[in-house]
Amino acid sequence: MLNIIFSLIALPYAPNALEPVISRETIEYHYGKHLQTYVDNLNKLVAGTEFEAMSLEEIVAKSQGAIFNNAGQILNHNLYFTQFKPYDEHHSINPSFHQLPIIEAIIRDFGSFEAFQAEFEQKGTTLFGSGWVWLAADKDGKLVITQEPNAGNPVTKGLKPLLTMDVWEHAYYIDYRNRRAAHLHSLWQIINWDEINRRYLEK
Ligand code: MN
Repeated sequence: MLNIIFSLIALPYAPNALEPVISRETIEYHYGKHLQTYVDNLNKLVAGTEFEAMSLEEIVAKSQGAIFNNAGQILNHNLYFTQFKPYDEHHSINPSFHQLPIIEAIIRDFGSFEAFQAEFEQKGTTLFGSGWVWLAADKDGKLVITQEPNAGNPVTKGLKPLLTMDVWEHAYYIDYRNRRAAHLHSLWQIINWDEINRRYLEK
């Protein structure tokens, strides 16, 4: 019997709560099948190795090959799926949105929130092949946008990952077919900025 070392995270919303931005069907495949497969693979790969006692972040920092790829994909998807909030058809804005330290830092480092969004979408759209676009912070709290191929995560560059968009086709092909840019643009509607702010302030 397989030892359960890592398990599938719980979603902080119902599987259909992100519709129409992300459909229930995409959640069922992306979370229920793709992420579950990475979890099952990693549990098989680390059994009996030095990695079974490590956190995902430690494995990503210290491993290569199949263990790195599966641990990286779990870490990336855990951050991805927990950064969303249920779609709100009224598009209500949290009255304290502009006072959040993460929003103040975005405006400080990118000039405006809209300039940040445009650069983020552009870097997600132009990342060739499969991978992830990230908002990350350096040790001084300065924000950067990075493009990471395949299972990459900015933790390997000493940066703290805050927000991410998955540009693997499995993230959008059911709902958007080949229209990656349209998918990335729509994701802003469901980003939980209180969670991104929590990550930014976390020591
Ligand atoms: Mn994915």
